[in-house]
Amino acid sequence: MKAHSKMIVAVLVLFVCAPGLGAQAAAGDVKKKEAAVASIEKHRAALVRMSDQIWQYAETALREHKSAQLLADYAEQQGFRVERGVAGMPTAFIASYGEGRPIIGILGEYDALPGLSQKAGPVKEAFEAGAAGHGCGHNLFGPASLGAALAIKELIAAGQLKGTVRFYGTPAEEAVGGKAYMAREGLFNDLDVALAWHPADETRADTESSQAIVDVAVEFFGKAAHAAYDPWNGRSAVDGLEVFTHGLNLLREHVRPTVRIHYTIVKGGDVPNVVPEYAKLWLWLRDSKRAGMEEVLARVRQMVAGAAQVAGVEGKLTVQAGSYEMLANLTGARVLNRNLEWVGPIQYTEAEQEFARAIQRATGKKESGVDGSIQPIKDPPPADPPGGSTDVADVSWIVPTLHLSVTTAPKETPWHSWPVVAAGGMSIGHKGLEHAAKTLAATMVDLFEDAELRKAMRAEFNEKTQGQVYKSYVADGPPPVPKD
Ligand SMILES: [Zn+2]
Repeated sequence: MKAHSKMIVAVLVLFVCAPGLGAQAAAGDVKKKEAAVASIEKHRAALVRMSDQIWQYAETALREHKSAQLLADYAEQQGFRVERGVAGMPTAFIASYGEGRPIIGILGEYDALPGLSQKAGPVKEAFEAGAAGHGCGHNLFGPASLGAALAIKELIAAGQLKGTVRFYGTPAEEAVGGKAYMAREGLFNDLDVALAWHPADETRADTESSQAIVDVAVEFFGKAAHAAYDPWNGRSAVDGLEVFTHGLNLLREHVRPTVRIHYTIVKGGDVPNVVPEYAKLWLWLRDSKRAGMEEVLARVRQMVAGAAQVAGVEGKLTVQAGSYEMLANLTGARVLNRNLEWVGPIQYTEAEQEFARAIQRATGKKESGVDGSIQPIKDPPPADPPGGSTDVADVSWIVPTLHLSVTTAPKETPWHSWPVVAAGGMSIGHKGLEHAAKTLAATMVDLFEDAELRKAMRAEFNEKTQGQVYKSYVADGPPPVPKD
């Protein structure tokens, strides 16, 4: 009886630990996953410390010097080979361990957003007035991914796994798109699989796409004159800009509902008594698929020429950057989902739930708290993605890529906003970091161990890409690294 019930318990534990893995989940693999989880627990304090430090640094795109150094130094101390300043960006780096195939890469971000400085409390209050803040939770993103890479490194070092693990320190996700520059250099080309995750208000193995985006500068060049004394000698660049934006806003009625058009005016003249000779607009165009976005871009090009003609000025459109739509890999996402279930939901204390509800009260949301449950995988995925783009999507067209969302903020929290900064700087965020690291590390154990799985993921990738070769949208020349 005792022996029998023990056996049932053993079988149950295996099943609960690795639901759905069935015969593939050899006991040895579960042991390796448990070792990976133990490694993350061992490094948890250091990972959380790095996250809090990056949260405080709150460095924006291509200025993440201290944040990148913190992660790269830690990787080096832990025995990774670290190559800094890759793809012409001082804050980009690659940390590798092991040798030979498979080569599994994991991406980490660490850039903040301007103007979102916030304390780690449930009321809106700047940590440093006017400074940047981690309104997208990237302070958690980098350290969690590094934690997962470190767990795998320790398994390779112990002779438990064979191959190479690579952590990619990828700067400037929020602006510029650092990964697109790294992709242009071919830095992801030899990977078998790439993994990434993102802080969110829910936990799920992602199968949804993201929007394709193109980042465009539109400039008009006119002729200066005195606006009262001899205006007939002038040609206003701002006139060109105004005609253009009018056209752009009319265009909104005649595009598909999946299209997004948004812009800011960067330069619109200096003083009213000088006919402006220069005007500049910064425009982002998005759609669910690159093809749709390209159609809109072609129409916008014509509108720049038309607006310039109306105003009697010169018009110029420059594609500065852009990202593809995310290419989901369902084969891999299902394995990621099983590992997510194996790790289990995130548990919160009553104090954390109250913190979350206080944020929801402050932002006029339903007081439902923070949700650490595992949301079902969307399989098949919806036809169109929600609004938003990511440069992880560029990587997904080069190599089969897995993407995970993990709760780091209260439900329905406005994103790119103070509540994300607040929750990302305290225990709710820390728990998300730990959970992401464990899920990604456990998934990587499967990816290292199972050549058939990697083959199936590659077959799906080949079928979806149909031999299309990735070409980065970023402009020729070096990345726009700030001089100051
Ligand atoms: Zn983000």
